Amino acid sequence: MKKTTVKIALDGPSGSGKSTMAKLLAKDMGFVYIDTGALYRTIGLYCAKKGVAADDLNGIIALLPEINIKMQLIDGGGVVYLNGRKIGDEIRTPEITKYASDVSKIPEVRSFLLELQRMIADENNTIMDGRDIGTVILPDAQVKIFMYADDKTRARRRYNELIAKGYDVKYEDVLSDMMKRDKNDRERQIAPAIPADDAIIHDNSGMSIEENFEALKKIINEKLI
Ligand code: C5P
Repeated sequence: MKKTTVKIALDGPSGSGKSTMAKLLAKDMGFVYIDTGALYRTIGLYCAKKGVAADDLNGIIALLPEINIKMQLIDGGGVVYLNGRKIGDEIRTPEITKYASDVSKIPEVRSFLLELQRMIADENNTIMDGRDIGTVILPDAQVKIFMYADDKTRARRRYNELIAKGYDVKYEDVLSDMMKRDKNDRERQIAPAIPADDAIIHDNSGMSIEENFEALKKIINEKLI
């Protein structure tokens, strides 16, 4: 018999604080945290390594049969393995970020990753962060939250992250790249990054990490009663 697990979908655009909050909430609640962006990034990484351009739709689809992605749950988080090799921060570069956004528009890529995401949430109490978790991946999630923050706040968060990792980037470039990617995600034909009808919209502009966390806990607790 299928287990009944608690599923929390945390969707929203880049820099809206999804991954920071999902990690904290998962730890607090003893849930598994799944970063679904890492899966699209991993496919992007493979395409980049194989020299297939991000806009070469047929080239990317042709690579899918060579790709085996697994997630191992370690310390409550999903660690990604690509063809048996553990994937780390190499998927967080600006180049792979752009690849991830491009490959995520391809329906074959999305269906390639769908089962893996659902399987984890069927087996574990899960907080999953992404763009289409509440609408497509886990439409049965008990809690659906669509996170938001204004463009400048989100770009500033991304910029600070990249600088902390040692990338030489300009704030204006981070802002314009982010806005382009978000527009792509929002306006794409398949699984656009929009709130599910039953999602709670949570704008965290101007909130500290602690305030954001408390506000989300309140939303989740009220929903799960
Ligand atoms: O969340 P993150 O920025 O790591 O995601 C990288 C890219 O993967 C996003 O820009 C988006 O295009 C894509 N993505 C997606 N659906 C998800 C998660 C990420 O299309 N559920």
